[in-house]
Amino acid sequence: MSLNVHFHSYDAVIVGAGGAGLRAAIEVSGKCRTAVLTKLYPTRSHTGAAQGGMCAALANVEEDYWEWHAFDTVKGSDYLGDQPAIDIMCQEAIDAVIDLEHFGLAFSRTPQGKIDQRRFGGHTRNHGEAPVRRSCYAADRTGHMILQTLYQQCVARDVNFFNEFQVFDVIFEGEGTERRCAGVVAYELATGDLHVFASKGVLFATGGFGKMFRISSNAHTLTGDGPGVLFQNGLPMEDLEFYQFHPTGIYGLGILLTEGARGEGGILRNGLGERFMERVAPTVKDLAPRDMVSRAIHAEIKEGRGAGPDKDYVYLDLTHLPPEQIDAKLPDITGFVRTYLGIEPKKDPIPIQPTAHYAMGGIPTNVNAEVVIDTNNTVMPGLYAAGECACVSVHGANRLGTNSLLDIVVFGRRGGRAMAEYVSSVGHPDVTKAAADKVRDHIERLKSSKGGEKVAELRTALQETMTRNASVVRTEESLKEAKATIDDLRKRYESISIDDKGSVFNSDLTEALELSHLLDLANGLVVGAMARQESRGAHWRDDFPVRDDVKWMKHTFAHQDAEGNVTLDYKDVVGGKYQPMERKY
Ligand SMILES: Cc1cc2nc3c(=O)[nH]c(=O)nc-3n(C[C@H](O)[C@H](O)[C@H](O)COP(=O)(O)OP(=O)(O)OC[C@H]3O[C@@H](n4cnc5c(N)ncnc54)[C@H](O)[C@@H]3O)c2cc1C
Repeated sequence: MSLNVHFHSYDAVIVGAGGAGLRAAIEVSGKCRTAVLTKLYPTRSHTGAAQGGMCAALANVEEDYWEWHAFDTVKGSDYLGDQPAIDIMCQEAIDAVIDLEHFGLAFSRTPQGKIDQRRFGGHTRNHGEAPVRRSCYAADRTGHMILQTLYQQCVARDVNFFNEFQVFDVIFEGEGTERRCAGVVAYELATGDLHVFASKGVLFATGGFGKMFRISSNAHTLTGDGPGVLFQNGLPMEDLEFYQFHPTGIYGLGILLTEGARGEGGILRNGLGERFMERVAPTVKDLAPRDMVSRAIHAEIKEGRGAGPDKDYVYLDLTHLPPEQIDAKLPDITGFVRTYLGIEPKKDPIPIQPTAHYAMGGIPTNVNAEVVIDTNNTVMPGLYAAGECACVSVHGANRLGTNSLLDIVVFGRRGGRAMAEYVSSVGHPDVTKAAADKVRDHIERLKSSKGGEKVAELRTALQETMTRNASVVRTEESLKEAKATIDDLRKRYESISIDDKGSVFNSDLTEALELSHLLDLANGLVVGAMARQESRGAHWRDDFPVRDDVKWMKHTFAHQDAEGNVTLDYKDVVGGKYQPMERKY
C-alpha cells in the first residue's frame, strides 16, 4: 500500500522542540507563519533532563564579569572555540537569564530573593584564581524548568506544533548561488503518512547524538537526525571528533549525576579513598573541566586505583554534605542513586564512571545560527541550526558545564530572529508533493527488504565499539578498530529488514532511519579523530598526547559523498584577546 502524502506551506519551520527550538519559536511566531515539528512531545525533549544549571555572570552572590566567563570558556574549549562567538554568548547570557525569569522560570533563590548561583567545573574568578558561583539553577531540575517555561510561552503565543512528526529529509531548490533551503519532509508517527512542508526558512534544533555510545547520559531519542539528514544531503559537519564524556555517570548505566553535586561540595575519590583531583588540578580540584576530570578517572582505573571487584569505577562522595543541603539542592540525582543502585548517598559514596554526554561538533553555523556550507563560511540561504545539533563554535574542543543551556537559549533566540528577518524578504519556494518521493521509496524499500540484518544488533555493535575505542582516550589502533567495525556495520545496514510492516507508531522503521544517522556521524567522528594527531580538549590521543597549536588550532569540516566516504578539510579558529596557554587549573 503506498503512503499518503500531505502538503503544507509555511514561512518558517523549526525542527525540534527542546530549549533551542522553543526559544527560536518564541522569536519567530507572531512575525510569520511558523510550524514547529517534533518527533517527541515538546516537554519530553532532552532539555528537560538537564540538571545542574545555566551560567551567566550575574554577580548575584560574588564578584563576576562576562569577560571572566568568556576567558573560562575559551580556556575550557582548549583554544578551539571561536572567541567572537564566545564573547557574544557570555555577554548575552545575562539578558538570557533575565528573559527566562520574566517568562516565569522559578529559579532557586538567595535569602535576599535574588537568583542564586553555584559553582561548576572550569568556571573561575579572575582568570583561574578560584571557582566562582556563576551557575543559575532550579534545584537539580534546571532544564525541566527551562523547557516547561518556554513551552508555556509558546502555548501562550499559539505556536503551531506538529507533535510526533519526525523529519526524514530536507528540501533544497535552485542551483549554484541560487540554491536555498525550501522545506522538509516529515513522517507522522501515529499514521505513517508523509508530509511535505514547503518553507522559506528551516531551523534545525534536533539535539545531540549520544546514542552512538553504550554508556551514555543521553535519552534514546538522541540520534542526530538533524545533522544526519544534512550530512546525507552533502552538507559538511564541523568538529565531530570532539565528543564530551561527563565524569559522573552512574556506574554501568551512564545516567547522569550533575556536576552541581561537586559544585555543592561533592568530592571524587578512588578505590583507596584518595581525593585524586588534588593531584591533577591543585587549584580547582574536583571542579576542573570535564575533559580533565574524565581523563583523571580513566587514569585512576587504568593504574589499578579503581574501586569495586573489577576496580573499574571511582566514587562521588557526598557523605560529608549536610543532609538538608542534599535534599534542597540535589533531590533528583540522589533519588536516581537510591532507585538505580539501592544506595543512600547521604551515607555511602556513589560508584561512577565517565558517560558519553555532549556533542561539541555538529552543523556548522555562524553567530546568527545561519548554516555555513564550507570553510569560507558561505551561508546556505534559508537554513539555520541552533542548540546541541549546531557548532557555532562556542564550546571548541570541550564544553564547560552549564554553557549548553546557555547556548540553546542565546543561539535559539538569535536564530529565530535571523530567520524571521530572512523570510520576510524572499518569495515562496516552488515545492510539490514529489519532494517526498525519495523518503517514500526508502521506507518502501525498508519494509519490503528480506535482508535479515536487525537494527538492534547493529546499533549495539556500534555502541560497543564507540565506547571501547573512541571515547575518553583514543589511539590510532583503537580508532582503526572502530572504523573497521563501522565500515562493516554500514555494509550490513544495506541488508537491514524490519519486522513491523505497519503504519501506526512503527518504531522498527524510525529506529532504522535513526541508526543510519548514528552510523554516518560515528564514521565522521572516527575519521576526524584518526586524522587529528594531537590531544585537545575531549579528543585525547595516547599516541599524540600533546596539543599542537601550530598544526591543529583549526576546525575540522567533514564531508560525506554519495557512497558514504568521508573527506576532511579545515578552517582556522577565530582568535581574540586570549592567547593559547598551557591549561592548568
Ligand atoms: C542528563 C543531562 C543533563 C544535562 N544537564 C545540563 C546542565 O545542567 N546544564 C547545561 O548547560 N547542559 C546540560 N545538558 C546538556 C543540555 O541539556 C543539552 O545540550 C540541551 O538541552 C540540548 O537542547 P536542544 O534544544 O539542542 O535539544 P533537545 O532538548 O535534545 O531537543 C531536541 C528536539 O529535537 C526533536 N527532534 C529530534 N530529531 C527530530 C526529527 N528527526 N524530527 C523532528 N523532531 C526531532 C526532539 O523531538 C526534541 O524536541 C544536559 C544533558 C543531559 C543529557
